[in-house]
Amino acid sequence: MSRSSGSYDYIVVGSGSAGSVLSYRLGRAGHSVAVIEAGDRGDAELVADPLAYGRFRRTRHDWNYDSLPQAETDGRTHVFPRGKLWGGSSSVNGMVYIRGARTDFDAWARAAGEQWGWDRAVRAFEELEAEPGQLAATLPGPERTLWHEAFLAACARHGLAARGTFDDGVLDGAGWTRLTMRSGRRRGAHEAFLLPALATSQVDMNDECTALRVLFDGDRAFGVECRRGRETVRLTAEREVIVCCGALNSPQLLLRSGIGAPDELSLLGIPAVSAVPGVGRNLSDHLVTGAVFTADEGVPAGPTAVAAFARSGGQVSGSDLQLWLNRRRHSAEHDAGDSSFTILCALVRPASRGTVRLAPGGGHARPVIDTGYLTDKADLDALVQGVRLARELGRVESFSSVRPVEAQPGGSLVSDDELAGFVRRSVTGQHHPMGTCRMGSDDESVVDPCLRVRGVHGLRVADASVFPFPVGTGPDASTQMVAWRAADLILSGD
Ligand SMILES: Cc1cc2nc3c(=O)[nH]c(=O)nc-3n(C[C@H](O)[C@H](O)[C@H](O)COP(=O)(O)OP(=O)(O)OC[C@H]3O[C@@H](n4cnc5c(N)ncnc54)[C@H](O)[C@@H]3O)c2cc1C
Repeated sequence: MSRSSGSYDYIVVGSGSAGSVLSYRLGRAGHSVAVIEAGDRGDAELVADPLAYGRFRRTRHDWNYDSLPQAETDGRTHVFPRGKLWGGSSSVNGMVYIRGARTDFDAWARAAGEQWGWDRAVRAFEELEAEPGQLAATLPGPERTLWHEAFLAACARHGLAARGTFDDGVLDGAGWTRLTMRSGRRRGAHEAFLLPALATSQVDMNDECTALRVLFDGDRAFGVECRRGRETVRLTAEREVIVCCGALNSPQLLLRSGIGAPDELSLLGIPAVSAVPGVGRNLSDHLVTGAVFTADEGVPAGPTAVAAFARSGGQVSGSDLQLWLNRRRHSAEHDAGDSSFTILCALVRPASRGTVRLAPGGGHARPVIDTGYLTDKADLDALVQGVRLARELGRVESFSSVRPVEAQPGGSLVSDDELAGFVRRSVTGQHHPMGTCRMGSDDESVVDPCLRVRGVHGLRVADASVFPFPVGTGPDASTQMVAWRAADLILSGD
């Protein structure tokens, strides 16, 4: 270790779900690690409060991103909240922790080799979930409500069989989800992994410090240039730089560092270090809409503790819809007030893809995010079926004691065309960007199956951006698993 000379063994850029896990593993293995994080620690009480979900939007703890207007969603732009604080998005997210589907990782294995298949993934999940700081559990019995039971009963009546916690990778049927919560408080990656890492002498936090570019000596990454206030700071790594900035900011940092399509880089005046045209492409996000009901009572505030997985009947094999019970509204425009509930429906295996690019002339500006929502017609068709299912679940007698009346989409919308119009007007992103630095064995991929950036040495990416395909549920657990596997690869010298 050589910290006294200002250099570390490893630099981990970003302290989110992935960066927290990775710095914990590398530090525990005895390496010196510099974590670079653009945000600060945040208000610990607010972060810990599960009901504060949403209160970080448009604050300094949010990157405050919006998409370009999306033609297929009636020209609307879409907010893209991202945590800018210790723990990254795991400090502001909905806390639902589901491992992902066996079939997701089998598809990853086809793209990037057996080491990313279900069998290897499940071992990593078991290892990381056995860590003393991590405790993703279902809601304790006393906190479960009649609303949860009514949702599960409605699912059962619809043939969505009762399941356990989905840990076996079969995302079908309905059940209780694990949550990254303990004793009623959020327990995101920073509590579970980052704080224990920082409590050792191996791992140093450099926060309020924004990475501007990776530094290269020829084709070898040796450090990171950052901005802290008005200062430009350089940190160096003897072994490797690992980028964990999330699926919107990791491609941005690679592009700023000269890794991307050479013609696009040259238009921006950035000298190319490695020609990797895939950087920033293949953006996927889950899409959400649903059915809103006014009722005699409303769902009390609390985390999403139950979920169901179902098939839209389209071209995708396996479940492509995730449904859950929510409070009064789907979005500001679809708010039915306190006395209401919503059955939300997410398309979790979207076919549409978007891009993340640098803004012209502005290396420091926000990335340009074109989500590509609904550009593949199959996604619209699947969501129409999802709205039908959400509407049917809300109508079954399990909810009859609160006398629900459908407010959205509204009983007058019946045909596929009418419901497609509702989907276009109502759908939002689920804030689950993935895939913009995808891994693969093919030359078009951004990182190889060991997560090494193509064409350079000493640089990896390990976060939700490397997913070759979206996982069919929230990506937090899978992102932590990717970081856990990245540590295995780094520590074994691969
Ligand atoms: C509102 C919301 C709700 C969500 N709900 C759920 C849920 O219930 N279940 C689920 O599974 N998933 C959920 N997600 C998604 C999940 O939280 C993310 O997929 C996951 O946290 C991504 O981890 P990551 O490490 O890739 O990125 P992040 O956790 O976003 O971490 C990236 C980190 O890098 C830092 N950073 C970025 N750029 C730079 C730079 N240039 N220099 C220095 N630091 C930088 C950021 O500040 C951040 O701390 C939600 C996300 C949001 C925003």
